[in-house]
Amino acid sequence: MNFTFLGTGTSQGVPVIACNCDVCISLDQRDRRLRTSGLVQYDDATILIDAGPDLRQQMLIHNVHHLDAVLLTHEHNDHLIGLDDLRPFIFNRSERTLSIYGLPRVLDEIRTRFAYAFEDHPYPGAPRFDLRPIAYDQMFDIKGHEIVPIKVMHGSLDIAGFVFPELTYITDCKYLEDEVIEKIKGMEVLVLNALHREEHHSHLNLVQAQQLANQLEASKTYLTHISHLMGRAQDCEIELKDHIEMAYDGLKL
Ligand SMILES: [Zn+2]
Ligand SMILES: [Zn+2]
Ligand SMILES: [Zn+2]
Repeated sequence: MNFTFLGTGTSQGVPVIACNCDVCISLDQRDRRLRTSGLVQYDDATILIDAGPDLRQQMLIHNVHHLDAVLLTHEHNDHLIGLDDLRPFIFNRSERTLSIYGLPRVLDEIRTRFAYAFEDHPYPGAPRFDLRPIAYDQMFDIKGHEIVPIKVMHGSLDIAGFVFPELTYITDCKYLEDEVIEKIKGMEVLVLNALHREEHHSHLNLVQAQQLANQLEASKTYLTHISHLMGRAQDCEIELKDHIEMAYDGLKL
């Protein structure tokens, strides 16, 4: 499996519009963060995790020509508002539709926010989504590649994380319930969110993310969903232990 960080920024992205802080004016490419998203590539399957507002740019930058499925962690706009930009992939497929996996609540939100895609006679050029409900701890597969959704607490909202045999993907987490920690711990590669350094009601901060990564006994952890308030990538790197790294856009595992 290859994994690419398509975006590692929080909901506003980095740089933030009209911000002149050190991070937002930095020329270091690692300080330029599109909205959080990841691409999983197997020899025979390409899977997108989340479809935020930067989806079009991300597909162009990484020269993605084909998708087999999209997995959605939750319904916040920075994770699904780019679904309409999947149209070129949808039109290129013989099925003229694309499988979108998410919690039933998230799929309902898609039907509401993209209602034009679900009309009986949609206008030509509207996307077609094949919505596929997932449930926590219920394994599903895409072309035989197994994925287990896990329950992640995003403040008071429960959202999906995805456990692949090779990698566990968790974003927008504030905490995990003990039984989830017990179930998944000991992974080789963990992707985990860390927003900034202060307390936040629905996201882990840098210290909390490191604590959770250690609790999960991950051999290697990459931090994502990062705010400009975190500081410059080069400064953060110095603070982190060897087995925990800041991810950056374009990083491939
Ligand atoms: Zn988010
Ligand atoms: Zn800034
Ligand atoms: Zn969110």
